[in-house]
Amino acid sequence: MVTYARSKAIENLWAPWRMVYIESFNKKRGGKCFICEACMSRNPQKTLTLELTHDTVVVMNLYPYNPGHLLVAPRSHVEDFDMLNDSQMLDMLITLRKWIKLLKKALRPDGFNLGANLGEDAGAGLPEHLHVHVVPRWKGDTNFMPTTASTKVVPELLEDTYNKLSSMRRKLA
Ligand SMILES: [Zn+2]
Repeated sequence: MVTYARSKAIENLWAPWRMVYIESFNKKRGGKCFICEACMSRNPQKTLTLELTHDTVVVMNLYPYNPGHLLVAPRSHVEDFDMLNDSQMLDMLITLRKWIKLLKKALRPDGFNLGANLGEDAGAGLPEHLHVHVVPRWKGDTNFMPTTASTKVVPELLEDTYNKLSSMRRKLA
């Protein structure tokens, strides 16, 4: 397990401007819709896809704010909640609930931020495919992102977290 230097600075725990920064990386994933790619991939480990339900996909964010930063999205390529029917909406919420529970067991965070950026001006890196960010939070983690971004520990961490969450999911299934 990698140890991170963490700032003691106390900031507001919800930092939406950081989400904009994170999403700017998602935009650089080759111009394709990476959520649709995750839905169609035959290699879930490569696309960091944790689960495909009937209507919902769960992928790890390639540039996480924190370990266990997930995106929960409808499988259908739509940009807003009002383009989902009730059963798609319900499936997404049930999947969201399941993964929050699973993350609690796997990573024992102190809390979560959940958020969706609707529209490019709100910071969405992929405005055409709706997705909800699930970000586990720990006390004192507010400066985690700049630290990891400059030390390239994220890929190893992503793989570790992916394996951990996948095996936890199998256990709970
Ligand atoms: Zn898509």
